[in-house]
Amino acid sequence: MLRARITFVAVTAVVAAILVTVVSAYRMVTPLIADQIDRGLADRVDTVLAILGTTSPLPVRPDMTEQLLTPDCTVTPLIPGRDPLPVSDADCAVARTGSGTAETDVVVGGKNYGVLTKARPGGGAVMVSQNYAEVNRVDSEFQWHATWVTALAVAVAALFSWFAIGRILRPIRRLADTSARITTTGDLTARLPDAGSGEVGDLTRSFNSMLAALRVSRAQQHRLVEDASHELRTPLTSVRGSAELLQRARGRLTPEDETKVLATLVQEAKALDALVGELVDLATDRHTTEPVSVLALPDLAEDCAQRFRRRSGRTITVIADDPAEVSARPQALARCVDNLLDNAIKYSPADIPVEIRVHGTRLSVRDHGPGIAPDDLQAVFDRFYRAEGTRSTPGSGLGLAIVHDIISTHGGTVSAVNHPDGGAEVGFQLPQSK
Ligand code: ATP
Ligand code: MG
Repeated sequence: MLRARITFVAVTAVVAAILVTVVSAYRMVTPLIADQIDRGLADRVDTVLAILGTTSPLPVRPDMTEQLLTPDCTVTPLIPGRDPLPVSDADCAVARTGSGTAETDVVVGGKNYGVLTKARPGGGAVMVSQNYAEVNRVDSEFQWHATWVTALAVAVAALFSWFAIGRILRPIRRLADTSARITTTGDLTARLPDAGSGEVGDLTRSFNSMLAALRVSRAQQHRLVEDASHELRTPLTSVRGSAELLQRARGRLTPEDETKVLATLVQEAKALDALVGELVDLATDRHTTEPVSVLALPDLAEDCAQRFRRRSGRTITVIADDPAEVSARPQALARCVDNLLDNAIKYSPADIPVEIRVHGTRLSVRDHGPGIAPDDLQAVFDRFYRAEGTRSTPGSGLGLAIVHDIISTHGGTVSAVNHPDGGAEVGFQLPQSK
C-alpha cells in the first residue's frame, strides 16, 4: 500500500535526521564535560598545594578526595575519614622525582574517579580525585531526553505523514476507483473532479481527456458499424436476389441469362470483398502500426503509377517540382496514392492521361474528367459518400475516407479542387520531415 510505504519512508527520514542531530550533540557535549572535570582537578590540586604551606584549613568538597604522597610513596590522607586513593607506579614516579603530573582513572567502591597527581615543589606529590557521577548523570539524562524526544517526533511524524499523504493520494485513489468502475461497467461517461494544479491535477486532466478520446473513438466505431451494415446490405441483397433466382429457376434459364446472373453474382461478391477489406482497414487503423521512414514522394508516386499503368493501360505521368523528403509510413502512403489514382482513372475518360504532381511535401492527382460538383468537394472525404453522378460506377465511397484517415495520422491535410482548365485535382499535404 502506497500510503503506508510513503509514511514509512517519511518516518525513517525523520528518525535518521534526529539520530544525526543527537549523536553529533552528544559528541560535542561529552568532551566539554570531561574538560570541565579536568580543569576542576587542576584547580583543586593548585588550591591544595597553595594551602599546604599555610595554616589555613583545607575546605572540604564532598565530590573530591585529596591525599599526600611522600617521596617514598607513602599515603597521608588530607581529609580524615575518606578511603585512600589507590596509588599507581606513575603516581609514585611523580612523588619520587618531585616533578611532573600524572592523570589516571580509577574505580573505588564501584564508582569511577578521575585522579590528578602533581609534584610538590619540596618533594612528594598531591593527589586529588573527583567522582564521575556528574558526567554519568548528564550522560544518562541526555540519553533519556534523546529517547523520548525521538519517540515523540516519530509518533508526530507518523501521524502527520499518514494524514497528509492520505490527503495527497486521495485523487489517485479516486482515479483508481473510477478506472476500476469503467472496467467493470464499460461506462465512459465518468469524469474525475478537478484536482487543482500540480502533478496529481495533471494526471486527473490527462485521465479525463483520455476518457473523452475514448468516448469519441467509441462513437466513431459505432457510426462506422452502423454505416457499414447499411452499406453492406445493398450488395448482399443483390447477391441474395441473384442466388435465389438461380435456385428458383434452376434449369429453366437460357444459358445467356444464366451467364448474366452469374456475372452479377461474381461482380457483387468482388465488390463485397473490396468493401470488407476497406472496412477492416478503417476499423482497425492497421496503417498506424507500420514504422515511419523518410521517403521521397516522387519515387513513391512513380511506383504507384507503374502499377496502375500495367493494370489499366492508361498514361500516367509524374511531375515533380522541388520535392522535399517526408517522414511517413510507406505502405499507408502508397495506399493513399493508389486510391487517388483509382478515382482519377475511374472518373475520367480512358484515353486521356492522368498526372501526379509533387510539389514540396504536397502530392495531388489530376485527371481530365468531369470534376467534382462544388457542393460535393467537402463531402468526398466522408465515409461512404458518393457524388450523385458517379453512383453507377463500382465503388463504396471509402477510398477517400481512407486517404483522409491515413493523412490525418501523419499530421497532414487533404484537399479536393476542380482545376480551372477542367478535371479534378485531389491530393494531400504532409508536414515537413524533421
Ligand atoms: P471506393 O474508392 O471506395 O471504391 P469511391 O471511389 O466511390 O469508392 P471515394 O474514392 O471515396 O469513393 O470517392 C468518393 C466520391 O468522390 C466518389 O464517389 C466520386 O463521386 C467523387 N470523386 C472522387 N474522386 C473523383 C474524381 N477524380 N473525379 C470525380 N469525382 C470524384
Ligand atoms: Mg475511390
